[in-house]
Amino acid sequence: MSLSEVDFGAMAEVAVSVGVNVQPGQRLVIMAPIEAAPLVRKVAEAAYGAGAKSVRTWFGDDLLQKITLERAPEEGLKEFPAWLADGFAQEAAEGCCFLSVLGSDPDLLAGIPPERTAIATNAAQAAMAPFRNYIMTGQVAWSIISLPTWPWAKRVFPGLPEDEAVDRLWQAIRQASRIEGEDPVASWKAHVAQLQRRADWLNDLEIDRLHYRAKGTDLTVGLPPTHLWAAAGQTNAAGTVYVANIPTEEVFTLPDRSRVDGTVQSTMPLSHSGQVIEGIRLTFKEGRIVSYSADRAAGNLKELIETDEGSHYLGEVALVPVDSPISRSETLFYNTLFDENASCHLAIGRAYPFTLKDAQEVSSDEVFMEKGGNVSLTHVDFMVGAADLDIDAITKGGQSVPIFRSGNWAKPA
Ligand code: ZN
Ligand code: ZN
Repeated sequence: MSLSEVDFGAMAEVAVSVGVNVQPGQRLVIMAPIEAAPLVRKVAEAAYGAGAKSVRTWFGDDLLQKITLERAPEEGLKEFPAWLADGFAQEAAEGCCFLSVLGSDPDLLAGIPPERTAIATNAAQAAMAPFRNYIMTGQVAWSIISLPTWPWAKRVFPGLPEDEAVDRLWQAIRQASRIEGEDPVASWKAHVAQLQRRADWLNDLEIDRLHYRAKGTDLTVGLPPTHLWAAAGQTNAAGTVYVANIPTEEVFTLPDRSRVDGTVQSTMPLSHSGQVIEGIRLTFKEGRIVSYSADRAAGNLKELIETDEGSHYLGEVALVPVDSPISRSETLFYNTLFDENASCHLAIGRAYPFTLKDAQEVSSDEVFMEKGGNVSLTHVDFMVGAADLDIDAITKGGQSVPIFRSGNWAKPA
């Protein structure tokens, strides 16, 4: 099946009505690979149907990005156009909503020296920081959906011919994204409510710290006194409820940046800046990563951790059972949006201020850090969940409560 034959109607509907939740009179900005044009057209139709004022699209091309990283002089890699970064920040300031479409080859940039990729990534992250702030603080509605491109499908289903691999990946995306049923919008609402009940339970426990135990992992993660467990369905500054990731299965909060101790081992490959990193091991002391290694693409892990001071600390703690639909599909997507929703994960780098109960008091990075939050140019999730993972919560009252047993929730929702 070629992408022009795929029926993207249900995906477009969920992206518009559940994901960014386009409001009448609102503008929508879409960032997508050029292969996504058939999907983007469907999204535009759905958005205008929901009353959007305008839909603008910023198309990118992975192979062009690769050529740039191979051929451009270092001076060129360091430049990120200010007008582009300002444009995105302005759209956000004016209350636009933002939809990203993913579909990259997980190993697109294998063979590019990690230092060159890091130069371009850091330049983009620094320039886009004001825009990213709108996203990270949840002031604007944003969402991410996926497209089954051939370069990605080839990695997930090696050995299959193009049509079959793309078709299988599309089926896997549809299943994981919960767009298969009669009324995907209604089933999303039920799913969001169930995740919220998990978050409520964890919030009621008043947890001081979590203790993770699994093969290669013995890690204690302290939580800030005012941490807030969140799940799909955030509310932006205008009061619109949006779902930032399609799919999403996680319940998450932020760690206390200076109270993480012990060792953790990744359980799934991580596709990061165009290369798959495997076998990550990190050791923490008082929150800081004091040693690290990887079995594959160790240079990319190094560039990630050495991005800045904040990338030596954690910014997210997320719980996902191994019996989640994505995990049960036993498909390794080599795409963090999917793989993180098949597994408990942690993130290196910046924390989300909205995962604090007193987020409205966070007026600066300094205040955020005083409350236990972490600040960095980067935020990268890596997977730590597996069928042998046990997690206990130690409450503020000193009680130990089982949260996860053998990779799953210790208690029904
Ligand atoms: Zn997450
Ligand atoms: Zn994350």
